Amino acid sequence: MLSATRRAVWAQSRSRLAQPSCPAYSFSPSALRRLASSLAILEQRDGKLNHGSLSAITAAQKLGGSVHAFVAGSNVKPVAEEAAKVDGVEKIIAVENAAYEKGLPENYAPLLVENIKKGGYTHIIAGHTAFGKNLLPRVAALLDSQQISDITGIENETTFVRPIYAGNAIATVESSDPVKVITIRGTAFAPAEVASGSAAVEDGVDSKPESPTEWVSEELAKSDRPDLATAGKVVSGGRGLKSKEEFDRIMQPLADSLGAAIGASRAAVDSGYADNSLQVGQTGKVVAPQMYMAVGISGAIQHLAGMKDSKVIAAINKDADAPIFQVADVGLVGDLFEKVPELTEKLKKA
Ligand SMILES: Cc1cc2nc3c(=O)[nH]c(=O)nc-3n(C[C@H](O)[C@H](O)[C@H](O)COP(=O)(O)OP(=O)(O)OC[C@H]3O[C@@H](n4cnc5c(N)ncnc54)[C@H](O)[C@@H]3O)c2cc1C
Repeated sequence: MLSATRRAVWAQSRSRLAQPSCPAYSFSPSALRRLASSLAILEQRDGKLNHGSLSAITAAQKLGGSVHAFVAGSNVKPVAEEAAKVDGVEKIIAVENAAYEKGLPENYAPLLVENIKKGGYTHIIAGHTAFGKNLLPRVAALLDSQQISDITGIENETTFVRPIYAGNAIATVESSDPVKVITIRGTAFAPAEVASGSAAVEDGVDSKPESPTEWVSEELAKSDRPDLATAGKVVSGGRGLKSKEEFDRIMQPLADSLGAAIGASRAAVDSGYADNSLQVGQTGKVVAPQMYMAVGISGAIQHLAGMKDSKVIAAINKDADAPIFQVADVGLVGDLFEKVPELTEKLKKA
């Protein structure tokens, strides 16, 4: 076993985004502080709340001021009622209309803007997920705001922290836009807990904006394993696995023995070893589980961008100089085809 101290190589930089202020909202910073009111955008599928999206409520609560949440789709009443139990949320705005079920930004964005204008919100917050990344840029454009993406920290209601250059630098950005449109990194804000709250559930406005886009179909990878984005343990395979057959043969029993989700490097995904929904990294999912095990992954900077905040990082690689060992807390140098089945057997007996 080779242990390596995780190196803090992430440089700090500060940048300021000065935005022209809008006369209609030309309040002093202290007045803004008093008026802060946030709208957290919730995600749902088939009438079930996506609990990961409750991170948007946590971020909204950090800002202070009033917190409302928004959800739209068909059969969203149960979602709204569940979210109403989050402590500290004053109101859930629900729009019941099948046209928004799939979150198509073409009609969802104007719907959201109508509701933002009606509520006079100062901060709009969604997860930096496929849904949030698809939707909020349109919302920001419609509001003539500069979007603030993928934040990991909130300094105050105008100043936010976000990683740039695949996490190699941390920028602190300040916005003077009257409405801040923000996506948050889920791993930086724990989902708010559904507890004993009793927020009011209210129907939102819906002028039924037309969408030029039609939802045709989707093919979802089904799995009984824990969800990669929120799992407590993740085992990820890379190009070192050599083929899809070997990826499945080696990684599935390892994941089963740990009760872990499976992830993959982009090289493994591009080579067809794993589904692209499993990609971890700059252009994949960002995860921060209690334990992340990288198997046959070199540790390219774009991969590290998606897992470096994991609490414990373990790596198995035959190359002792592989960069993954620079961020690993625990490393094993050896042939994965020999070491992983051995480890899996030991875990099964433990
Ligand atoms: C714009 C951009 C975005 C990107 N986004 C991502 C992203 O989101 N996620 C991502 O992962 N990558 C991303 N990449 C790609 C990234 O740069 C790397 O190419 C990729 O991460 C490499 O994947 P890998 O580590 O599996 O493969 P390799 O770099 O080929 O590493 C394979 C490793 O397996 C080891 N190995 C081989 N055989 C064995 C064996 N028998 N036993 C043990 N170890 C073995 C080797 O020593 C090597 O370290 C991006 C690149 C660009 C340019």
